[in-house]
Amino acid sequence: MIGTGYVGLVSGACFADLGNDVICVDRDIKKINNLKKGIIPVYEPGLEELVIKNCKNGKLSFSSLLRDSVKRSDIIFICVGTPTKKNSSAADLSQVYNVAKEIRNSILKFKIIITKSTVPLTTGDEIEKIISNKKTKKLFSVVSNPEFLREGEAIRDFTFPDRIIIGTNDKKSKKILRNLYAPLISKGAKYINTSRRSAELIKYSSNAFLATKITFINEIANLCEKSGVNIEDISIGMGLDVRIGSRFLRAGPSYGGSCLPKDTKAIINTADKFKTNLSIIKSVIKSNEDRPLLLLKRINTLLKGKFRKKKICFLGVTFKANTDDMRYSPCLKMIPSLLKKGAIINYYDPTGFKKELSKYKNISFSKNIKSAIYKADLIIIHTEWNDFKSINFKSLVKNKNFTIFDLRNIYSPLKMKQLNIKYFAIGK
Ligand code: NAD
Repeated sequence: MIGTGYVGLVSGACFADLGNDVICVDRDIKKINNLKKGIIPVYEPGLEELVIKNCKNGKLSFSSLLRDSVKRSDIIFICVGTPTKKNSSAADLSQVYNVAKEIRNSILKFKIIITKSTVPLTTGDEIEKIISNKKTKKLFSVVSNPEFLREGEAIRDFTFPDRIIIGTNDKKSKKILRNLYAPLISKGAKYINTSRRSAELIKYSSNAFLATKITFINEIANLCEKSGVNIEDISIGMGLDVRIGSRFLRAGPSYGGSCLPKDTKAIINTADKFKTNLSIIKSVIKSNEDRPLLLLKRINTLLKGKFRKKKICFLGVTFKANTDDMRYSPCLKMIPSLLKKGAIINYYDPTGFKKELSKYKNISFSKNIKSAIYKADLIIIHTEWNDFKSINFKSLVKNKNFTIFDLRNIYSPLKMKQLNIKYFAIGK
């Protein structure tokens, strides 16, 4: 596994647990040294135990030596980052292509080179061109095997995937990969073989569709707020239609994280190259980017335009619960704007202090829920951790005139009314 981040480390540990000999490689030497000591670089439930168990039984090891690890491996998964390019909407493929260049010099016997990173249509073709020379010509096959795991549920998603997509026409690779995934197929995972380009596009289309679903229900929530309708009735009523499905149909803040924001942009960029206008996805991106501003307007109304010295507490700051990932978290747009208006912010997150927020003044981290909300004028429930689901606000908040803005619709407005708490939610 090349790249030991969320995807590489989880996949590596899970493949080792299935009985394979796995080397997880990363250019970040500190990360590798920590992993050798059992220190896990990301928050992912169950991962630490899985890593330690498989290191102990000799199935999983860590290395910063890419070429040596490639030489010793039959199957190479590229799991490096594919962020958005600076000043562009395209995916920055420099990490992927750098890895491909390094692999080129380590091919002495047949190897399958797989992109597990999310890479745009035709990237496999490019990797093939980079690696191919007189010596390597018949000694490798480039396959697309996109990853669909979700942070916070990654081990379960890897072990019980909805589907496994293998994009290749190469017979030998097909056979080897079917064997590799046999333990998951026997547990019910659907195994689909496509062309390499199809596999690349399946991943982007899936993420763009999920982003569309979230954005769709968020916009319907806006309508609910103005028309006295409860968005949760709409989500349930729509979701029961099997053609629609209930998942990703819960209104909330904008979507964030390391995948949907960058992948929606990248698919548009790819489509542009093929002179195709993906107008729906364009409007999804715009709507999602505008959403934090819309939420800020609601906060403005809740505070009657008075932000100066107002104590605002964020419960959860990551892009969703059960992860420590801050990439494109909605609060990264909201917090600076609230600070600029004169608010004083403190936050609590079960995954701890966030360096992404440390550059601002008038913001502090609280070590527990109690101290976070104690002095708050406004409590913003930003993520849906279980820890936030049964807080006794009445007894814990000192200021008896506090307001709650629940961006995840965790609490019952009726119960809050009975408790005499000023409570506002999404789409209600
Ligand atoms: P990440 O940033 O957490 O990890 C990437 C790792 O690759 C880093 O540790 C980095 O040091 C390493 N790396 C970069 N260049 C390297 C090189 N030349 N040699 C060795 N290591 C190198 O990224 P991630 O979240 O694991 O995502 C990886 C890919 O998988 C992305 O394309 C992403 O879109 C995709 N993906 C992510 C998720 C997710 O939930 N995070 C889910 C599905 C797919």
